[in-house]
Parts: sequence; C-alpha cells; structure tokens
Amino acid sequence: MHEHLLSDYFILAFMLLAAFGFIYVRLHFFTDSPLSIRKSSAKYWFLRSLRPIYRPYLVRNFPFYNRLNDKDKILFEKRVQKFIDKKDFIPRGGIKKVTPEMKTLVAGSAIQLTFGYPYIYFRHFYRILIYPDEYYSLITRKFHKGEVNLGGLIVVSWRSLKEGFSSHDDGHHLGLHEMAHALRLINIIENDEYDFYDRKTMQQFDAEAKKEIDAMTRNQGEESFFRTYASSNLEEFFAVAVELFFEKPKSLKRHNATLYSLLAKILKIDPIAKSHRLDASK
Ligand SMILES: [Zn+2]
Repeated sequence: MHEHLLSDYFILAFMLLAAFGFIYVRLHFFTDSPLSIRKSSAKYWFLRSLRPIYRPYLVRNFPFYNRLNDKDKILFEKRVQKFIDKKDFIPRGGIKKVTPEMKTLVAGSAIQLTFGYPYIYFRHFYRILIYPDEYYSLITRKFHKGEVNLGGLIVVSWRSLKEGFSSHDDGHHLGLHEMAHALRLINIIENDEYDFYDRKTMQQFDAEAKKEIDAMTRNQGEESFFRTYASSNLEEFFAVAVELFFEKPKSLKRHNATLYSLLAKILKIDPIAKSHRLDASK
C-alpha cells in the first residue's frame, strides 16, 4: 500500500513537470522571441491594443489595412503593436530617435506580408536599424537602401522606405521588399518558424521565376514587366514579385497567373479578393 502511494507521487510530480514544460514551450512559441533577449515579458505574451499614437500612420499609409473588415483591422493593429513591442529599433547614421511613424511603417510592412500567418513575427530578426538615407556597406562595398542579414538584422534607409509609401500602385515598396527577404530567410534558419510555408509551393514559384529571369536575360534591353533588378537572382525576384503582388496585383495576374496564384498560396492572401481572403477552394 505504502509503495503504491510513493509511485503515485512520482507520477503526479512527473505530470506536473511535463505540464510546466509544455506551457513554457508554448509561451516561448506565442511570445515569439528568444527568451534570453526579452526586455519585459508580460507585454509580449498577449495581443494588446494598438497605441493610438501609431494608428494615424497605419490609416495614411496602408490601403491593405484600410480594406480589411473591422475584425481583421483590429487583428492587424494588435499584430503591429506586438511587432513594435518585440523589436529593438536602433537609430543610425545621424537619425537621433526612431519616431512612431518609422516604427509603424516598418511594423505595418511586416504584418501586411505575414497577414496570412498570425504567429509569424520574424523572431530571428529582432534588431531593426534605421539610417536616414542610403548607407554604405563595408561588406558589399556598395550603397544600400536596405538589407536583411542572417545575423538577425533588418536594415533600412528611411528615405527609401518612405518613398515606397508615396505611391501605392507603382510596384516599388522597400518595406515589403525587405520583409520578403526576411520571410525567405526564416525558412532556412532553424527555429520554431522554420518551414512554416509549404516548401513545394516555393520550389514551384522558383521554377516559374527562373523562366521569367531567363526571358529577361534573353531580351535584354527590352522593356519587361519585372524591373531589371529582379533578374539578379531568385531571392531578388521573389522580393520584387512581392512588391508587385501588393501594388499591382491585377497586372501581375494578367502577366503571369501561375506566379500570382503561387504567391497567393505562399502568403495565404489574395490582394484582389474582398478583404484579401484567399479562397481555399481554388
Ligand atoms: Zn533585395
């Protein structure tokens, strides 16, 4: 009888430990940032409402957000707040302070791109560097408008980022472009966000992209639907295609319907559809 009790205690202790372990791992997943770098935990655990200081910049700059239904708008706002809370925004090269406008334009771009993935916040990239203008990279020895690197940085030139918002249908959008790079990179980094999109669909996209790049190389000098920069490599093609997907969705679909539907499948969003919902039956 006595032994029975003892083993019961062991089982109970084990179950408690397992439960704590499970909760810890889930929290780690939902808070979506490495536990070691968290500044203060509580505000990362739940989706809190967007601080009013950011909302005007969302309304002014994100037609995607403005077209959402009321429920999705609130989700978009809360996710923007969470993105802002989780990242370290660092001013560089003469910028004294990262303003609420800068934070909103960066966070909004990330949330627009990942709106089909409610739990993706680019955990690996937790520092965002903002330069006033194009900056010189010692690594590439070139001037850059932005970059995303595996060391965990997203870097943008504020002037170029803001220019991307000056027109919503010219197919140029640095914010979405850099977030598209981050999106492709997180699938090669081993963490909880690893392999979140369907690898096969991305391979199909790349195969289609290669055909476009080949055509552009063959017809060099002639006008092409994608800007020349897209033909640099598959990563740049994807990032440029994402810009067009959101800013010129109808033209992209007319130009290459396969590419369009593959992108919609990868991002789980359809910018042409009402409230951007992807029709899963197609
Ligand atoms: Zn790029």
